[in-house]
Amino acid sequence: MADPVAIARDLVRCRSVTPEEGGALTYLQGLLAQAGFETHRIVFAEPGTAPVDNLYARTGLAKPNLVFAGHTDVVPAGNEAAWSHPPFAGEVAGDKLYGRGAVDMKGGIACFVAAALDYLDANGGKPKGSISLLITGDEESVAVNGTVKLLQWAAARDEKFDHCILGEPSNVDVLGDTIKAGRRGSLNGTLIVSGRQGHVAYPDRADNPIRGLVTLIAALQAPLDQGTAHFDASSLEFTSVDVGNPTVNLIPGEARARFNIRYNDRHSQATLKELVEERAQAAAAGRVRFAIDWPPSNADVFVTKPGPFTDLAIAAIAEVTGRRPKLSTTGGTSDARFIKDYCPVLEFGLVGQTMHAIDECVPVVDLVTLTAIYCRMIEKYFG
Ligand SMILES: [Zn+2]
Repeated sequence: MADPVAIARDLVRCRSVTPEEGGALTYLQGLLAQAGFETHRIVFAEPGTAPVDNLYARTGLAKPNLVFAGHTDVVPAGNEAAWSHPPFAGEVAGDKLYGRGAVDMKGGIACFVAAALDYLDANGGKPKGSISLLITGDEESVAVNGTVKLLQWAAARDEKFDHCILGEPSNVDVLGDTIKAGRRGSLNGTLIVSGRQGHVAYPDRADNPIRGLVTLIAALQAPLDQGTAHFDASSLEFTSVDVGNPTVNLIPGEARARFNIRYNDRHSQATLKELVEERAQAAAAGRVRFAIDWPPSNADVFVTKPGPFTDLAIAAIAEVTGRRPKLSTTGGTSDARFIKDYCPVLEFGLVGQTMHAIDECVPVVDLVTLTAIYCRMIEKYFG
């Protein structure tokens, strides 16, 4: 039996703070190659971003191809002295494995690698179809040289994916409580109101854009919808109001406010932009001159609807834990937003409570249980 605790510990000991590879992919590549996987390392680069190392591994040639996806990069440890166990030591204490990435998501990767190795061991070294692993080192930062390019690379090689399980920490309180089956979209915008600069003592000679900005900000905070069958209500939150005026006696010529929208499947980016611009137009009432700048977003809303794939995952989780997970679409974005363009994707991993925190840790029993769940999923998948 493969030992998920040892694999997780060894991964935590690799200092793969994003975008550093830190030995984590090399370690996984060794394990997988030994078990008969064909492995590929691919470095992607782009001007203005750090080059990032990625790993694709596959065993089997037949359909269906079940993909496990994840990232070995981690967020920085922060103040290392504040940790009760060093963040890159991989110490086990009091039935928990401590370290940066223990739950997000080296622990999850260790579990699906161990599950794949156990499954192969029990089945003469070959799956009925194919098992693939899509592992990036670029998720926690800009996510430019990671999964999105790895998927394109795989498509260019004619790799076909049938279903994907992304091992992000999806559970809220206890292992088996939540599968993420979709994510809201994310769209940024900047509201720019133009006025006329002038002396603050002579406001009649100027046109203060801050007045107009305040009016439009108020109007744009109205609810966007009431939620949908699979999603909570969309939200628009202002994140910054910027005038950049260093003086006290000057009415500025322009004022800006940045906002972010987390939106559900009632909207597309196009209809959402239209809705926001209409509301701003109405509030401006011909008196406020404004424009909205929309930087491109690669985070579209998606949902993996209930069906045989979600049923299989729910059944595997219920058989191992006795819990029936709910299908959730809450939280931020993840690499699932890229994978969903290639095949249906579910996210299921460890419990997320300590992710990105000081003393990130995972109960050893959770690593063992998650491995059993993944193993059950693989068995059911290849029936
Ligand atoms: Zn993560």
